[in-house]
Amino acid sequence: MENLFDVTIVGSGPAGLTAGIYTSRANLKTLILAGQKWGGQLMLTTTVENYPGFPDGIQGPDLMEKMRQQAAKFGAQIVFSNAVKLDKLDKLDQFEIFTETEKFLSKSVIIATGAETQWLGLPNEQRLIGRGVSSCAPCDAFFFKDKKVAVVGGGDSAMEEALFLTKFASEVTIIHRRDSFRASKIMQDRVLSNSKIKILFNTEVVDILGQEKVEGLKIKNCKLEIENFVCDGLFVAIGHKPNNELLRNLPSNGVFLAGDVIDLKYKQAVTAAGAGCQAAMDAEKWLNNKNN
Ligand code: NAP
Repeated sequence: MENLFDVTIVGSGPAGLTAGIYTSRANLKTLILAGQKWGGQLMLTTTVENYPGFPDGIQGPDLMEKMRQQAAKFGAQIVFSNAVKLDKLDKLDQFEIFTETEKFLSKSVIIATGAETQWLGLPNEQRLIGRGVSSCAPCDAFFFKDKKVAVVGGGDSAMEEALFLTKFASEVTIIHRRDSFRASKIMQDRVLSNSKIKILFNTEVVDILGQEKVEGLKIKNCKLEIENFVCDGLFVAIGHKPNNELLRNLPSNGVFLAGDVIDLKYKQAVTAAGAGCQAAMDAEKWLNNKNN
C-alpha cells in the first residue's frame, strides 16, 4: 500500500465510514483506520429502527457492513488496526499516523473514534450485553414491552433512559448510589412525577443474575445488606467516555473531528453520519485551498 493519503480517517462507526464514503467518492485517496473492533457502538446493538431508509429496521452490524462496503466501493482502503499516535510533520506539512505495527502518511486527518459506554464493571455484565443488559434505551426499550427494568445512574442520561423506558416497560426502577440525583431539576421532576418510575437511592448493583438473559440483580443498600432484585433488563447510564486519546496536542490545521468523540448531546447514528459527511466536506475544501 502506498503510504501517502489525502485523508486518513480514524474510526469506523457511522461518522468514520460516512466520511470515508464522501472523501473516496470525491476522489481523495482515503485510508480508514477502522480499529481492531471495527464498526463502533452499532456492532453491539440488534435491530436499528430509527435509521432513515430502513422502514423494517436493520441489524446494527448489517448497517455497518453496508456502510463499510459503500466506502470500499468508492476506493477507500480499510485497515483493521487501531491508531495509537498522531504527529504532524511540519516540514512536509503531513501527518504521521501510527498503528502498533505500521506508519501512514496523510495530508489531512478525520478523527471519528467515537465513545464508549462507561460500564459498571460487574462480573456478569459483559456476558449479558444484548441479553438484557443495555446502555441505550432508544435502541432497546422496545424489547422490554410490559417488562420490569432497572436503570443505574443519577444524571440526566439515567433520567432520560428511565423516561424513555416507561413507554414500553411496565415498571422502571432507577438505582442510584447516593441519596440524591445530580440530574437537572426539570429531568428529576419528570421522573418523580412519572408513576411508572420507582427509585432506589443509596443502592448499588453488585452483580447481574441470569444465565441466558437477565433475570435479576444483586443489589446492596447503604447498610451493606445484599438482596436480589427481580427484573428483565438493566440499563447502565453512568456516562460515556469519548475515545479522545488522539485529541491531545492536536495541530489546528488539517485535522477534523466527527461523531461521538466530540458529541456529548445527540449521540445518534444518524447525527454521527451527518457529522462524518460535514468533516469530509471540510477536509476536501481544506485540501483544495491548500493545493491552490
Ligand atoms: P453524569 O452527569 O456524569 O452522571 C453520571 C451518573 O452516574 C451520576 O449520578 C453518578 O453518580 C453515576 N455513576 C457514575 N459512575 C458510577 C458507578 N460506577 N456506579 C454507579 N453510579 C455511577 O453523566 P450523564 O448523565 O451521562 O450526563 C453527562 C452530561 O450530558 C451531563 O452534563 C448531562 O447534563 C448531559 N445530558 C443532558 C441530557 C438532557 O438534558 N436531556 C441528557 C443526557 C445527558 P454520582 O452522582 O454519585 O456521581
